[in-house]
Amino acid sequence: ATHFVIDGLKAEIEGKEILKGINLEIKGGEIHAIMGPNGTGKSTLASALMGHPKYEVTGGSATLDGEDLLEMGVDERALAGLFLAMQYPSEIPGVTNSDFLRSALNARLGEGNEISLIKFIRKMEGKMKELEMNPEFAHRYLNEGFSGGEKKRNEILQMMLLDPKIVVLDEIDSGLDIDALRIVSNGVNAMRSEDRGFLIITHYQRLLNYIKPDFVHVMMQGRIVKSGGPELAERLENEGYDWVKEELGIVD
Ligand code: ADP
Ligand code: MG
Ligand code: MG
Repeated sequence: ATHFVIDGLKAEIEGKEILKGINLEIKGGEIHAIMGPNGTGKSTLASALMGHPKYEVTGGSATLDGEDLLEMGVDERALAGLFLAMQYPSEIPGVTNSDFLRSALNARLGEGNEISLIKFIRKMEGKMKELEMNPEFAHRYLNEGFSGGEKKRNEILQMMLLDPKIVVLDEIDSGLDIDALRIVSNGVNAMRSEDRGFLIITHYQRLLNYIKPDFVHVMMQGRIVKSGGPELAERLENEGYDWVKEELGIVD
């Protein structure tokens, strides 16, 4: 069964410590949400897990089913079953979305297990339909000129194709109108499974009305300072973060 453990993770950017010891455990079937004010390190956590070169891990560990992710290259992490939908997906001019998705999928499947072009196209078209995406997006250059909402939908398409064990979604709701939010959430919910865990990073409780988390964590100043159930997200939405700061004696 999927078991993802982050233990004492520390990371810095350009010599500045951002993550100050993150502890988190996600089992298959669970959805965890991380909420927190701007600039507290939520995206840094996602990037450090994915192995973004700008973020230097200075301590702690992150293991997926006992394997140390932090020792792996970016491609190996994906192969091991980690998936990250970024807050700001990159544009890659000159590479079509379909070519990108197929090589990502083949990397995930591993050498010798590559999917045939015909099967891939059928699979991709099916998922695009589910996400109510215009078929022309298959042939567009990756994320180039995509609206915010189209980029997010495309990240979910990628997730659906890759069938990962651990999914990290960084502000997948930002820039989505209500219809797109519903479609994206349905896509995520359809991917819920006992073998898969989710880490959903969001500013807004709104997303959590569509994707019901089992656990909610509050991140502040590079640490998870409070954990609870869905009721915690509701309280944050209603009252903001000040009460958490007061409770914990955090001064900014
Ligand atoms: P959040 O996602 O919670 O809003 P981030 O993880 O994006 O926060 O940022 C945490 C802190 O790290 C902020 O102070 C931000 O300015 C800083 N930071 C993030 N990315 C970079 C970067 N590439 N270079 C320099 N500082 C960065
Ligand atoms: Mg932010
Ligand atoms: Mg962020």
